[in-house]
Amino acid sequence: MTTQRQAYLTIDDSPSTRMDDMVDALSARGVPAIFFCRGDYLALRLESASRAIRKGFIIANHAYNHRRASQISFDEMTQEIADTQNLIDQAYASAGVSNYQRHFRFPHMDRGAGGWIVDYDALPVSCRQDVIRMFADGININLDPPDQAAVLKKAMLQDWLKASGFTQMPCPDVTFPWFRQTEMAAAIDAMYTYSTSDWMILPRHKGKWPWASLDDLKAKMDGDQWLQRTDSAHIVLAHDNAEIHDETLALIDHSLGRGIQYKL
Ligand SMILES: [Zn+2]
Repeated sequence: MTTQRQAYLTIDDSPSTRMDDMVDALSARGVPAIFFCRGDYLALRLESASRAIRKGFIIANHAYNHRRASQISFDEMTQEIADTQNLIDQAYASAGVSNYQRHFRFPHMDRGAGGWIVDYDALPVSCRQDVIRMFADGININLDPPDQAAVLKKAMLQDWLKASGFTQMPCPDVTFPWFRQTEMAAAIDAMYTYSTSDWMILPRHKGKWPWASLDDLKAKMDGDQWLQRTDSAHIVLAHDNAEIHDETLALIDHSLGRGIQYKL
């Protein structure tokens, strides 16, 4: 069964050694995407990011070394984001594009307070389980509030992002109550509503999570109660990783075959 649905494709951990191939494959399919780039990879392959920009893709920020914001200081984290943004600005400049937005996604979705991704206790009761379910699908979440310093760091990072000109990626038609009526909608950093969990079949993760093969991940996609919904757009999370390049592309193709239409 195919059901027409709209979605935003977000691809993390670029630019990999296969980014050019991913860009070409997506271009051939008419699929736009936002690539969240690591600074250390941009330093190696800035041209891949510029090339993607020239082909109409959006390049965004995923910090420098993919470290967890809860495990480094506020100053280290903001320096990572600033250093990465410098490289992104260079990529846009070399592509001849001066009009672009700044978007950011935290590595590991660690927003400064580890597995306490959002303030679960502050969520509307009607939304709490849905938010928990969404994040627990691939993240070791922590429902208990962390110490005050971590709570403060998470808030300070949001303030810093805002002051530094970052905005949440535009997704006005993501209308799930558990997104729209919660901290997820207010976040400056980029959220998602469905993870392909493609990284679970990386050799180093394989077998440690519930989904261990490409077929498992296709079945997960087909069975996800929210992804079936047509009354909201979706934000799909996938990865640019050379080790699973073919599998990630196969999952994107699977989603297209199921009627998902990607847009920006
Ligand atoms: Zn990442």
